[in-house]
Amino acid sequence: MTVTDVKLVSMKEMLKEAKQAKYAIGQFNINGLQWTKAILLAAEEENSPVIVAASDRLVDYLGGFQTIVGMVEGLMRDLSITVPVALHLDHGASVARCQSAIEAGFSSVMIDGSSFSLKENIRMTNDVVSYAMKRGVSVEAEVGSVGGMEDGMIGNIVYANPLDCHRLVQETNVDALAAALGSVHGPYQGEPKLGFEEMKDISERTDIPLVLHGGSGIPVEQIQRAISLGHAKINVNTECLLAWNQAIRSKLKEDADIYDPQTILTPGTEAIKSVVKMKMREFGSSQRIR
Ligand SMILES: [Zn+2]
Repeated sequence: MTVTDVKLVSMKEMLKEAKQAKYAIGQFNINGLQWTKAILLAAEEENSPVIVAASDRLVDYLGGFQTIVGMVEGLMRDLSITVPVALHLDHGASVARCQSAIEAGFSSVMIDGSSFSLKENIRMTNDVVSYAMKRGVSVEAEVGSVGGMEDGMIGNIVYANPLDCHRLVQETNVDALAAALGSVHGPYQGEPKLGFEEMKDISERTDIPLVLHGGSGIPVEQIQRAISLGHAKINVNTECLLAWNQAIRSKLKEDADIYDPQTILTPGTEAIKSVVKMKMREFGSSQRIR
């Protein structure tokens, strides 16, 4: 079969459906072409919608906004991908960065105004929403602070205030909200402590699909509880990074004479693909496309 046209979709519909049916869509961050290929193939094989994301801080490293759009769309055509794919800017640092992503063809953006005052966060979010909405692009906002590495800075966890979340959702037209509730970017030290009480409160007040950042390494029971309390999107990055790293290291260790990139990198791609497929099953997004 040849796919003659591909169309990236916003995450609005997929998140609405997921929230309603109580499952979550995985967001998987890319670090290059092999990552994108692994994620798209995993989604197609699992018959699952997927959110492919580029971290704002890695956009230049990846070649730039247009390169990323071209790569994702090109792979969708060449690999005959038929499941819904959203291309999302993760932790967009400014209104201008979100606009550049949208202009290049991203179908979804996150504006991360969480380090600013609530008032400023709302203003930035509104600027992005008014630009994105008329172009059919979805917007995610953040309240509170996810622990670990965020925007290239190591920060502490700041729990999202439910009243702040309510106000931001009321005053903007966002499609999804990342309410920081104890998750961290990067590996966890010890057991993650998610604020389930606050989560329930925020979910009831806002009634919007919630986003769990730092979804790697959270025990599956906690993930499922977060889904039952309104999370419709879960971001996974670290687990793919670790699996890729381990696969490449062991390949290089096993044979000190190899130098061909395809032989070295393919086990890494395979490792990412199995993590993505496993997550799609855990999140309940597998086999959702009729
Ligand atoms: Zn994040």
